[in-house]
Amino acid sequence: MATRNIRLDGDSVLRKICKPVKEMSYRTSVLIDDMFETMYAANGVGLAAPQVGILKRIVVIDVGDGNPLALINPEITFQEGEQTGDEGCLSLPGLVGQVTRPMHVVCKALNREMEEITVEAEGLLARAICHETDHLDGILYKDKAEDGLYEVE
Ligand code: ZN
Repeated sequence: MATRNIRLDGDSVLRKICKPVKEMSYRTSVLIDDMFETMYAANGVGLAAPQVGILKRIVVIDVGDGNPLALINPEITFQEGEQTGDEGCLSLPGLVGQVTRPMHVVCKALNREMEEITVEAEGLLARAICHETDHLDGILYKDKAEDGLYEVE
């Protein structure tokens, strides 16, 4: 495993639409391992493949609930409620902004074995799934931050 360079805001790769994963290859498996390592090294709760320069529909998320998730071709199929709170992104280090997201989501995806899974999420996990899935369509949270971004110490 290895950490990879995290692409920063302004890099055009972050604005591209990612392609679905059709099969689990060795390269993709290594990519997922590296994404977890990169996310943990940067103290993030989520990372999407375009953030390490790979235009594939893969995200990794670990909100500290003991259940790290690798979601392949994730799709949000249901959302309900609303939460507004601070959000940040490893591609925009040192910044946060207020973003409104659904309180509950249901996400369908494939796991590393390419089996269909359904994740029901609320709160922080719901926010992370929305944020990371947006990355796969070239959307950054700053596009949705109601009062712009501000610096954190
Ligand atoms: Zn992000």
